[in-house]
Amino acid sequence: EEVRTPAAVRDAQRWTAHNYHPLPVVVSSAEGAWVTDVDGRRYLDCLAGYSALNFGHRHPKLVEAAHAQLDRLTLTSRAFSHDRFADFCRELSQLCGKELVLPMNTGAEAVETGIKVARKWGYRVKGVAAEQANIVVAEGNFHGRTTTIVSFSTDEDARADFGPYTPGFRCVAYGDLDALTAAIDENTVAVLLEPIQGEQGVIVPPAGYLPGVRRICTERNVLLLADEIQSGLGRTGTTFACEHEDVVPDMYLLGKALGGGIVPVSAVAADAGVLGVLQPGQHGSTFGGNPLAAAVATEVVRLLATGEFQRRSAELGARLHAKLQALVGRGLLAVRGRGLWAGLDIDPALMSGREASERLMTRGVLAKDTHGSTIRLAPPLVITEEELDHAVAQLAAILAE
Ligand code: PLP
Repeated sequence: EEVRTPAAVRDAQRWTAHNYHPLPVVVSSAEGAWVTDVDGRRYLDCLAGYSALNFGHRHPKLVEAAHAQLDRLTLTSRAFSHDRFADFCRELSQLCGKELVLPMNTGAEAVETGIKVARKWGYRVKGVAAEQANIVVAEGNFHGRTTTIVSFSTDEDARADFGPYTPGFRCVAYGDLDALTAAIDENTVAVLLEPIQGEQGVIVPPAGYLPGVRRICTERNVLLLADEIQSGLGRTGTTFACEHEDVVPDMYLLGKALGGGIVPVSAVAADAGVLGVLQPGQHGSTFGGNPLAAAVATEVVRLLATGEFQRRSAELGARLHAKLQALVGRGLLAVRGRGLWAGLDIDPALMSGREASERLMTRGVLAKDTHGSTIRLAPPLVITEEELDHAVAQLAAILAE
């Protein structure tokens, strides 16, 4: 029955660096929450491009926006402006409740932008002595793959052999307010955190932690940078994961779903007192905010402005978490998360996370391990109740096998 898959898997590995260990599935088309492979098998996508596909594959409104834009204008560079730029920036700023945005392409670029802006704000606004700025980050973080970002990773796979490392970062335990307070000094310009740590296994910090971080940052005149690249834009049942604790960061870092699963689009959003420190020539990107990206991302912002996807994520997420909790003690050791986002610790005596994702694949459900025996479920927010129940049933089945 596997006609084309084995050769397609082999070919895909033959001509690329082995910086990924993908599941042996070769997808050729997709719609909504479903993908179809080269042998015609269908799978329920419960990873959703690491949350880049929050609106599902090929959402009709997003595809229509892309097609229409392809027929008019795709790129100007930032040397000129274009007629999709202003609407995109205004609508995204308004969604974020911030005065300004700065569009980039990938998540890592948004994080780099946040780091640069925070440092410059530190020197120009806070009055930190030249070259002395530090940024406090959390253990278990994942913010991307650039040399500066991996410099403060605590994952040795991500970090080892890529030095010399960028200085200026202090790493403290995630969820520990005392450690955070102790790490901040007069040269601290920012605290950079994921409000929920996705790659680490969907780690939700203790209640009160994020408000505590917010309070400390305000007291010590330190910017709070929320990396909502994976947690934001509807994933947790709200537009931003910070909202669950009524926290408003000084800067949102956004990516993934902002591009609607069609084009890479990222951005940072902040008020003028922060983003206004940048002058012409000090930061940029050839493709940042390009017409195609702006057209798709504007439509993404409009989808989110309806609140429909956040609502779906909250309602279906409650169902998902109730069903997963029922599996704790029956193959699962623990379940964490919010909305349609869950980290599951499988009993390592049963199987590894890799094995679990392979067995789910065999049953037509695509998910991926994060670390060890932990897998993540993050289906597109367009998934139906029946499809969600089907996915959990397949998980229950592999745990019972
Ligand atoms: N920040 C977070 C929280 C992420 O989850 C990711 C990607 O997984 C990134 C940043 C990096 O995004 P990109 O892969 O688009 O550079």
